[in-house]
Amino acid sequence: MSACLFCGIVKREIKGDIVYQDDSLVAFRDINPKAPVHLLIVPRKHISTLLEVEQGDRGLIGDIFYVAAQLATDQGISKDGFRVVVNCGPGAGQSVYHVHFHLLGGRLFTWPPG
Ligand code: AMP
Repeated sequence: MSACLFCGIVKREIKGDIVYQDDSLVAFRDINPKAPVHLLIVPRKHISTLLEVEQGDRGLIGDIFYVAAQLATDQGISKDGFRVVVNCGPGAGQSVYHVHFHLLGGRLFTWPPG
């Protein structure tokens, strides 16, 4: 059993509402959604935070943004606009230490974020 929650979802040890997967990425619905559409896009590779992303991960991170845009279209939130958010570290509210990209849409968002 994985020590990391999101590694557990990626490896199907823990149930997740998976909406997309490929060789390097998995996207699933957030269990406590903050918007009508709230997905988490995670690399299969365990990376704790954005600060641990390495030179060799640059393509992987680019792929996440490509998949985010595809999923935004698939989920019907691309026309009105959507947000992609990474919380890094305690001050930003990161609670799960496996890097993840929140894809949020389906409502209006204020700026700056809280
Ligand atoms: P963050 O606070 O940026 O680390 O985001 C972690 C996110 O993971 C939160 O939005 C949680 O609601 C979400 N989350 C926690 N546990 C699960 C789970 N088992 N399945 C799906 N999402 C989860």
